[in-house]
Amino acid sequence: MCAVTFSTWGGTYTATPARRAQPRDEAELGELVAKAAAEGLRVRAVGAGHSFTDAAVTDGLLLSLDHLSGLESVERTPGGALVTVGAGTRLHELNALLGSWGLAMRNLGDIDRQSVAGAISTGTHGTGARLGGLATQVRGVRVVVADGTVRSVSDADAPGSPERALFEVARLGLGSVGILSAVTLDVVPAYLLRSVERVRPWDEVVGGIDALFDDHHRTDAYWFPGTDRMLTWTHDLVDDAGTAVYEASRRGPSGLLRRGGHAARSLLDEEVLANGALGAIMQVATAAPRTVPRLNALSAAVLGDRTHVAPSDRVMVTRRRVRFVEMEYALPREALPGVLRELAAWFAASGEPVPFPVEVRCTAPDDVWLSTARGRASAYVAVHQYHRMPYRAYFDAAEEIFVAAGGRPHWGKLHTRTAADLAAHYPLDDVARVRAAVDPHGVFRNDYTDRVLGTP
Ligand SMILES: Cc1cc2nc3c(=O)[nH]c(=O)nc-3n(C[C@H](O)[C@H](O)[C@H](O)COP(=O)(O)OP(=O)(O)OC[C@H]3O[C@@H](n4cnc5c(N)ncnc54)[C@H](O)[C@@H]3O)c2cc1C
Repeated sequence: MCAVTFSTWGGTYTATPARRAQPRDEAELGELVAKAAAEGLRVRAVGAGHSFTDAAVTDGLLLSLDHLSGLESVERTPGGALVTVGAGTRLHELNALLGSWGLAMRNLGDIDRQSVAGAISTGTHGTGARLGGLATQVRGVRVVVADGTVRSVSDADAPGSPERALFEVARLGLGSVGILSAVTLDVVPAYLLRSVERVRPWDEVVGGIDALFDDHHRTDAYWFPGTDRMLTWTHDLVDDAGTAVYEASRRGPSGLLRRGGHAARSLLDEEVLANGALGAIMQVATAAPRTVPRLNALSAAVLGDRTHVAPSDRVMVTRRRVRFVEMEYALPREALPGVLRELAAWFAASGEPVPFPVEVRCTAPDDVWLSTARGRASAYVAVHQYHRMPYRAYFDAAEEIFVAAGGRPHWGKLHTRTAADLAAHYPLDDVARVRAAVDPHGVFRNDYTDRVLGTP
């Protein structure tokens, strides 16, 4: 154990914890938490450090759950399976493990580098009008609370009971009630998705965004600021006939499986988000911000129409090698077109150089206490900026538009909201009661939980 500085993926925060530790198992995790609490040290866990906020930052004990990783159990259900995994399991490892059992996640976000615990704790979501965020797929958790004991809670606990309330804050609560050691997920049989990328006029996409969301299993849209086009990226389930064609296409004339026989990745992924060329574009944009409108027009121009079919995780997940900073807000769905028009007006008026696309997604309403989609069908707007370019003016302007439209900030992405602002959106008094009951001395607090959840 030694003091080592930790930095978030986007370079937004660093921390020098007093101690770091990687427990080998749940028993050691419990001992570490109890010992730190007895010494008066605060405790946080870090997953992959992919939050842009200071959610995982501490000057106390920083735990990595990398050893609490992998599949614990698989229980088949009529709709798929309940799988229990170590909380430190990375999503890409989870997808591979599920694949080997013929299973898959119902939905994923844009990348698969995060840990399961880190992803659910900040309300990580993908897209799909009938799909919820990752925390909606959690059926139970094991959580190590401040006295070092392990509590096992789930959605089978009676509504209104202390156990059920603990489950709610443990499955999405920024690690504010304890350290998750295991997570039980509701997963489905493996499936294919047909991905269709189309470049369409901006007005057509924004004007028809509701139908676009409702007509597809998953819908994503990307907009390079200053251009009048949008890339829509829709994913739909493939029927049995389509699956048979896909399987046949992966086999050579001999009937043997081709090596690397998956269809190509999406053009957006290959050419824009993951391509080394994007890094070069960002360097030009940083050195000469005035070139950004032409660079964006070029980026939008390389995108064309493309269709491909692949296993769900390969379609949903993109690679993000170029570092950026990000803010994302969940909006009531009906507010989305107005918000995008206001953003467009701000880009036109300010001339702000932004070489990264704005991303638009949606999710179904859910009932998870701290979910950004709690109680309402939601549209998400994410603004990004290259990590070496100024972002304050852009994010401040975007946040003003989002807040005025009733937006809720993503817990893992940059924002300036406080518990006082967020109390209108979430049952923060109930959350405070759960925290006070299991963590009376505030072992799992940090500056971020104080700011956004308040001090119980
Ligand atoms: C390139 C990139 C792409 C992204 N794409 C998406 C996306 O598509 N959709 C989306 O919604 N978000 C997205 N995010 C945000 C990201 O999913 C979240 O910030 C997520 O929390 C990161 O997971 P992590 O494992 O890195 O967690 P960390 O950032 O390390 O931690 C997040 C929180 O979880 C807590 N935590 C971690 N482990 C535990 C544990 N075992 N027990 C209790 N608490 C714990 C931490 O203390 C902290 O509060 C993206 C981020 C990046 C950098």
